[in-house]
Amino acid sequence: MADILILGAGYTGIMAATHLDKATQPFTLINRHPYHYFTTLLHEAAGGRGNRKDYSVTLKNLLHKPTSQLVVGEVRAIERHRHAVVTGEGEYFYDRLIIALGWVPAYFGIEGLDKYSLVLTNLESAMNIRQHIERQFQAYVDDKNPERLRVVVGGAGLTGVELTGELLDWLPTLCVKYGIDASLVEVHNIEAMPTVLPQVSESLRNTAAEVLERKGAVVRTGTKIVKVEENRVHLATNERVHARTIIWTGGVKANPILRAAGFTVDGRGRAIVDGYLKSVDDDSVFIGGDSACFETHRGNQLPPTAQVATQMGRAIGRNLVAAVQGKEMQPFRVSLKGTLASIGREEAVGDVGGIPVRGMVATVAKEATKIKYLWELGGARLAGEKTDIVGR
Ligand code: NAD
Repeated sequence: MADILILGAGYTGIMAATHLDKATQPFTLINRHPYHYFTTLLHEAAGGRGNRKDYSVTLKNLLHKPTSQLVVGEVRAIERHRHAVVTGEGEYFYDRLIIALGWVPAYFGIEGLDKYSLVLTNLESAMNIRQHIERQFQAYVDDKNPERLRVVVGGAGLTGVELTGELLDWLPTLCVKYGIDASLVEVHNIEAMPTVLPQVSESLRNTAAEVLERKGAVVRTGTKIVKVEENRVHLATNERVHARTIIWTGGVKANPILRAAGFTVDGRGRAIVDGYLKSVDDDSVFIGGDSACFETHRGNQLPPTAQVATQMGRAIGRNLVAAVQGKEMQPFRVSLKGTLASIGREEAVGDVGGIPVRGMVATVAKEATKIKYLWELGGARLAGEKTDIVGR
């Protein structure tokens, strides 16, 4: 019996794991947390919406067969020459390996950024942002330091815009809670490129910027962050913004464990995979999600998004079961459905199947993608349990 290890229980890892679980194919899943969290909703968790349990599901609730093993631990290295994975809990050996270790923040060498900014990388960091901001508002009541009511979000990609939108809806309620004048709160969204959301169509970018500004954000485009010190952001314009909350959403790169393990990687540290999502360096290894650099038959590279990661996990699960059973594997074909960005609780922009959508239509479409994902992962029970936060 081949020993199968899956590293990471993000969108790719959990999709592959639930497929193997359903097929009663033995495997061991190694993950840092005992739960799977919904990366696409982290901005909501950071922005004071719902509770921790609304944004995660316990892995044991998703894996039902005795053939599915779970190890909660930190993957530290992959030693390919001896088919070993080194973790904080000891070493694990494999015949076949699925790597789905996701991404880490990219700081682009900007001085002080890693030390003095918060990031939205996982559920813990989202809850940390939320608690940090609330502590600042609480402390403002005593010392009236205006820096405590100023938040800087660095980067206006999808993460930065979604987080800024969510904060703009949440912070007025914090002001009510602590008796603070809401007009004193400032949320700055600072972007190096000439527009917010360079990934979506031009009309939607303008809509996104308008919605953010209408909600009260200070949107600064064409403005690069060049250095960060404690409570201070330096801009390329020689200006400084003093703030007690500095959040970096300026970019991501693949987990550095891939490069260290000797895989051939692209500029973002993603390991190059073939048409079946197998490493081009190692026939025993599948790689998916933000860890993988896959080129479509049209020569396009895929973005590190949840929809791509989910589809890759599903394909890897199917192909691994086929490979173990000596059957033919199927090449991976991606189906890109579009992009949707929520801007706070009631507004969203995006494109669905190439058609631009905004406002309530986009919001409903975004909620529908949530429900579809939950349904696939855990059936009607999970979809019902987790979607009661919709509309809050
Ligand atoms: P990103 O790389 O897409 O955006 C980062 C932004 O930060 C860019 O616009 C960049 O110009 C800006 N930036 C970089 N350096 C800067 C500097 N020094 N000063 C100011 N601005 C700077 O990163 P992301 O938004 O975290 O997204 C990562 C991936 O996740 C993307 O592929 C995205 O599509 C995906 N994602 C999707 C969704 C969704 O579908 N709703 C939500 C979040 C993330």
